[in-house]
Amino acid sequence: MGGGGREHALAWKLAQSPSLTKLYAAPGNPGIAHHAELVPLNIADKGAVVAFCGRFAIDLVVIGPEQPLVDGLADALRNAGVAAFGPGATAAQLEGSKGFTKDLCAAHNIPTAGFERVTGAEAALAAVDRFGVPVVIKADGLAAGKGVVVAMTLAEAEAAARDVSGDAVVEEFLTGEEASLFVLTDGTTSRVLGSAQDHKRVDEGDTGPNTGGMGAYSPATVLTPELEAQAMRMIVEPTVRAMAEAGTPFIGVLYAGLMLTATGPQLIEYNARFGDPETQVLMPLIEGDLAAILYACSTGRLAEAEFAISNQAALTVVVAAEGYPGEPRKGGSITGIDGAEAVGAIVFQAGTRLRDGQLVANGGRVLAVTATGHDVAEASARAYAAVDKIDFADGFCRSDIGWREIERLNR
Ligand code: ATP
Repeated sequence: MGGGGREHALAWKLAQSPSLTKLYAAPGNPGIAHHAELVPLNIADKGAVVAFCGRFAIDLVVIGPEQPLVDGLADALRNAGVAAFGPGATAAQLEGSKGFTKDLCAAHNIPTAGFERVTGAEAALAAVDRFGVPVVIKADGLAAGKGVVVAMTLAEAEAAARDVSGDAVVEEFLTGEEASLFVLTDGTTSRVLGSAQDHKRVDEGDTGPNTGGMGAYSPATVLTPELEAQAMRMIVEPTVRAMAEAGTPFIGVLYAGLMLTATGPQLIEYNARFGDPETQVLMPLIEGDLAAILYACSTGRLAEAEFAISNQAALTVVVAAEGYPGEPRKGGSITGIDGAEAVGAIVFQAGTRLRDGQLVANGGRVLAVTATGHDVAEASARAYAAVDKIDFADGFCRSDIGWREIERLNR
């Protein structure tokens, strides 16, 4: 389910699964169409999705985006006897409600920034007063990455607090490097799928406005095996246990956004699904039958799934349409994907469509050009060599994806 770069990466890997007999994608995109039969299903229509699964005897539904999860698509499928990879609506609150996650952390001693839940501007202003600056103000619900203000000055903090209309969380500012940890869980067993770092800002050096993500790489070596074990023990495993004990087990991929502070990893946020563009760097590193792994995860048998994670690195460069993250220019023609793939990259498509047989841009983030290598520097060189083969006049990308990791390698 879904039609972005994340779903292209999932479809690409699922299509290579020996256990797969047939792959459908709804709504998909022209890149996904190389690996799956596209079906014009409205994924917001739970009844239609369940009916489709019945008609075509679907064994497993892999749900890409967060909105259908929060809306209960996985519940509807499981109630109808269809295995679904993704949490039910209550467990998806780990992403859908920052207040829910903060309360869970407080109840189970999970390390996270000190916080206060507030409703309305007046309460937010009072909380800002108590916290001082820097401080972080977050709207409670799904906000597509636009609900968070990291305020360095009192004026910014008060302006953000005055903007609070409904429920919000005011929290302590944490310092450190961020890393994302992706963990498969069937509700009981948890297994690490990999780590990544992404670049959220549109401009070089991580400056400029926020985006959905301009690139990513895996693994994030800053998350050492020791820190990863600590994050599993103190953050992910207690969360999975708490959700199961509450009778709302989390099934799917738990994506933990971590701040690696001087006192260890702290939870910044959870996402209840794969990241975009992080999936584009996780998939090429999985050694195993993805359809079988996700099926095992969706049916309580994750402990039996056979897979390993490659010791290679992967990096993806997002090519966006001019104007993004504002109003992107749509309709620009794209050629050269075959040439890019001929030099060893994988070109995942996000905002594309076919116009009279010609691939054109149809969104902000258009392509995710992905390569692997023995380290991030090699993956980066290969990915940028592939970007150079693509002819997309309206496109732009950052030239410094992976800079933190490459700097670390050079040290
Ligand atoms: P997204 O899903 O796009 O990452 P979101 O709206 O779910 O965003 P968060 O991930 O909670 O919000 O916060 C967005 C960013 O703000 C984080 O990636 C981090 O850089 C910064 N941030 C959030 N909380 C804190 C904190 N307590 N201290 C310092 N920085 C923070």
